Amino acid sequence: MIRLSGALLLGILCSNALALPRNAPVPGGVAVVDLGPASQPAPTARWGDQALTVVGDHGRWFVLLGIPLDTLPGELEIAVTSAGSTTTRSVAVGIKNYPEQRLTIKDQRKVEPNPDDLARIAREKEITEAIKRRFSAAAPATDFRLPASGPLSSRFGLRRIFNGLPRNPHAGLDVAAGSGAPVKAPAAGVVANTGDYFFNGNTVFIDHGQGLVTAYMHLSRLDVRAGQPVRQGETLGAVGATGRATGPHLHWAVILNNTPVDPELFLVRP
Ligand code: ZN
Repeated sequence: MIRLSGALLLGILCSNALALPRNAPVPGGVAVVDLGPASQPAPTARWGDQALTVVGDHGRWFVLLGIPLDTLPGELEIAVTSAGSTTTRSVAVGIKNYPEQRLTIKDQRKVEPNPDDLARIAREKEITEAIKRRFSAAAPATDFRLPASGPLSSRFGLRRIFNGLPRNPHAGLDVAAGSGAPVKAPAAGVVANTGDYFFNGNTVFIDHGQGLVTAYMHLSRLDVRAGQPVRQGETLGAVGATGRATGPHLHWAVILNNTPVDPELFLVRP
């Protein structure tokens, strides 16, 4: 007789793939913490002063904790408030080593910006940091689809050296789609911002709710405006090579609790 594991049986009973991201409690990953049966109202959770995403799935509540890339292995503590009482849950963070990537950029100013560029970069950072800190009430859909068609090229977390100079790690996933290819919303949300940024080029940010924000960079064309709601699959713009890019591709970033995390953890597996 063939015995089915609980997880396999659940997979067969629910033809829809699980909507939660993959549990990956490592730097740059997402810890998926089971908070128990989905009693009402939904619990809330915080990590320090940062509110966390809580989603329901198959009759249970889960908190999604985005873990910063520079986190050292060890225990993180989150506070969970349910029915008026707050308890502490610890999350064990493991080790993940990301490979190094060396890139050559023709425009040296994109690697060593001049004083005017640095002032612009500082202004843009204020805008993008505010978007990353957004926390709107709506519970997000987390069953993402890849926003462009093409092979996954540079993966999340690569330790980057541009023209021989160490720079920030790769905080997104690159999709090698051709110039002009459509970029589509991976899930429903509201356009939080669009703009032309020094490093990121033409960019769209989408707020999916509860601290889950995604961004689409280096676009050749923007088809949406700030404040506009978007459906899953709606076209946001077209792939390009604006900003600091070695060639046309989509840079896709997924931000949870103000922390860039690996977008691949959110892709529904067939
Ligand atoms: Zn990229």
